[in-house]
Amino acid sequence: MARPPWIVFSDDAGSLEPDRRLALLGGKGASLAEMATVLSLPVPPAFTITTEVCCSYLDGGWPDGLDAELRTAMTALEERAGRRLGDPGDPLLVSVRSGAAVSMPGMMDTVLNLGLNDETAAGLAAATDDRFAVDSHRRLVQSFAKVVLGLDQDLGAVVASAVDRAGVAREADLPADAMADLLTDLRHLVDEQSDKRIPSDPFEQLRASVAAVFDSWFGDRAVEYRRQEGIPDNLGTACTVQAMVFGNRDEASGSGVVFTRDPATGDNGPTGDFLLNAQGEDVVAGTHTTVSFGDFMALMPGPGAELTRALGVLEFHYRDMCDVEFTVEQGRLHVLQCRVGKRTGVAALRIATDLVDDSDIALSRAEAVARITPDHLHQVLHAGFEDGGGTEITRGLAASPGAAVGRVYLTTEAAIDAADRGEPVILVRRETSPDDVAAMALAEGVLTSRGGLVSHAAIVARGWGIPCVCGADEIRIADDHFAVGDVVVSEGDTISIDGSTGAVVLGGRGLVEAVVPDELDTVLGWADEIAAGSLVVRANADTADDARTARSAGAVGIGLCRTEHMFLSPERLPLVRAMILAETDEDEAEALDRLAAAQQADFEEILEAMDGLPVTVRLLDPPLHEFLPDIEELVVAEARGDLDDEARELLRSARYWAEVNPMMGTRGVRLAHLRPGLYRMQARALFAAAEARRSAGGKPIVEVMIPLTVSGPELASAREWVVEAAAGLGLEEVPVVGTMIETPRAALLAGDLALHADFFSIGSNDLTQLTFGFSRDDVEGRFMDVYLSRGLLDHDPFEHLDDEGVGELVDLAVARGRAARPGLPVGVCGEHAADPVSIRRLYAAGVDYLSCSPARLPVARLAAAHAVLGAATG
Ligand code: PEP
Ligand code: MG
Repeated sequence: MARPPWIVFSDDAGSLEPDRRLALLGGKGASLAEMATVLSLPVPPAFTITTEVCCSYLDGGWPDGLDAELRTAMTALEERAGRRLGDPGDPLLVSVRSGAAVSMPGMMDTVLNLGLNDETAAGLAAATDDRFAVDSHRRLVQSFAKVVLGLDQDLGAVVASAVDRAGVAREADLPADAMADLLTDLRHLVDEQSDKRIPSDPFEQLRASVAAVFDSWFGDRAVEYRRQEGIPDNLGTACTVQAMVFGNRDEASGSGVVFTRDPATGDNGPTGDFLLNAQGEDVVAGTHTTVSFGDFMALMPGPGAELTRALGVLEFHYRDMCDVEFTVEQGRLHVLQCRVGKRTGVAALRIATDLVDDSDIALSRAEAVARITPDHLHQVLHAGFEDGGGTEITRGLAASPGAAVGRVYLTTEAAIDAADRGEPVILVRRETSPDDVAAMALAEGVLTSRGGLVSHAAIVARGWGIPCVCGADEIRIADDHFAVGDVVVSEGDTISIDGSTGAVVLGGRGLVEAVVPDELDTVLGWADEIAAGSLVVRANADTADDARTARSAGAVGIGLCRTEHMFLSPERLPLVRAMILAETDEDEAEALDRLAAAQQADFEEILEAMDGLPVTVRLLDPPLHEFLPDIEELVVAEARGDLDDEARELLRSARYWAEVNPMMGTRGVRLAHLRPGLYRMQARALFAAAEARRSAGGKPIVEVMIPLTVSGPELASAREWVVEAAAGLGLEEVPVVGTMIETPRAALLAGDLALHADFFSIGSNDLTQLTFGFSRDDVEGRFMDVYLSRGLLDHDPFEHLDDEGVGELVDLAVARGRAARPGLPVGVCGEHAADPVSIRRLYAAGVDYLSCSPARLPVARLAAAHAVLGAATG
């Protein structure tokens, strides 16, 4: 079979099928090809060396035979351009540009004005004018020295001093003499600093520049960008060689960048920058003061009108907002490059909805939804930092998105007092516990030095939409300050945290407040249409307030109501403790009755808020010691002789229930087997609440969920208590009872569990913890960084579902559960249910619904639609 071509001309690429064209020629090469062939736009002649050549060069060096092909291609380019490379009379100059199949803007290198040496520069000067030739030569030396020879810092200093001496604003304004001096200085610098020379043979210049562009695929910037964007390392970049046109030719010339719509707001209409008598690099460098697109139109009405027409053609062709680079040379327009433009979240939503309404482009709703990224939503939903201000002192885990500025408080009491005084508070704790929730509710942001992405702080902050950085393990917390290395931050000092990046900044940084555009609801509505019946999104909500927020944020029910949170308020805690401490059945029953009344009231409110939608109530899950006071504090008080009888009783009980591994101890359904009255009480309270709602004309839909099961018999008896509770209230309907899949054994024995379960909900937090044997509260502050940096794990499994291990258990649970009980509904209520990467995996495993905290619903709804669309399009 003939090998694929190594080099493809833009005007010759029409026969390549579009996906192949993009893969081989990269975005830049493919768009040039489309502009030159399909769209008949004025593009300078060009050819592209394919990504496959780059990969083979990066693997094994300059491929045999490439020189010959490059020479043949140059000859063909010379014919198209009507000039010859190296012709001292009227030389052809070329640019050499990178361009991968996925957009990596500005991450790789470009060399301009190749083909100049002393002879050809003299020829160019004779054919044009001296100053222009010297300026072009100076640009070649500058870009070749930087990109190919790797010189950088000192070049800028030489240019800056020439600009200073001449008293002009920018190097392009240097008079001819000063420009010639600058060229001489730059050439000296290259001679002094590098053992390599800029070859005078134009072909050698070209060859070295192509190699440098290929090498820039593994440049630091490019590698880091790919890591952040999840772009694979093995794609390689294409390299496009294009005849130069000169925006720096004279005052009838210039270069610009224009977007077909505003990339910041999405407003429909061209917006951009133009620079007279300049090359494109001057525009994008941001070092020169450009004029607006409107001013360009006034300056050059002819090329302006032609460009406006081209922008319409491009937007229609790409069916999206385009980012276009152009040059005008002596009054003639050349389009150099076009790509789909990057945009802010606000603009993305606006453009997507406008293009659905646009009768020419007629984007489908599915296409519009597919174009919105989770990052776009984060941008519109959460405050971010303005650039600058304060000093970053450390980074932790980006646990709950959004930025916050406030004063540091290190205890719940101090934080509450400060919030009462009206101060903005950043609560800083080693880790948080249920005791801290009152302070968290008042805080602008939460910072912890320990604990991972599913730690208490992270889950609660995410649930409430409070920015949170957790596991910032360089932080050492003392009584009245914390320290990072030598930096000491006292209580009351101002810090800023960014829960989207994990940054912790000393001092106040300006905030850009979130502005939620109207288009968000429209796009999420379309996302729901796409995902309906395939992967719907419920909320994790424990209070009526949460339930209301969740409903208005688009939740189609509650998939996890953690009832333990109802037990923690100051009025309820004594009742729980009384139940734990009860020595007789009567005492236990009395305490449970009082708790039942309180729970029933809570359930009624929640059911009212979610009227007509399913509410899954999880019976009590955490270990009992979480409801008891801290043993250490009681022991200290005992030593001081400060304990009364009741406190002594609590200490005895706390000691009795203390466990070495509480997360693997007496919790969930295991605790219920020791205190069966507990689940009976909770079920009774729930069904009574539902009855009360029904009597009031409501439509409560309740489901009961049993946590942490490991076997069929264990679940069967828990289910029995729930069924009895319903029967005890005289209800005819058999209640809906399901179980969580949180232990590997539950996943493996899903077939047995399904015989006693009306639904499953995957508790991916505990399932991850128990599959890896990694403590969900500790691992990220300890060895996770080491594991990630050494490549022992390729990602944190608490952030994205572990595809191979935990993912396979989910596959098994779904398959075995449904084999035993066809059509068994399966949800997911761990933190992975709002992570787009995990959602794709969970959908592939066959889950029907997700359940996540209200603040994460928009991203989960979008990601659910993306998963469904992705599966549909393969
Ligand atoms: C889980 O384990 O995934 C879960 C949802 O339960 P919790 O986080 O309350 O342990
Ligand atoms: Mg759990």
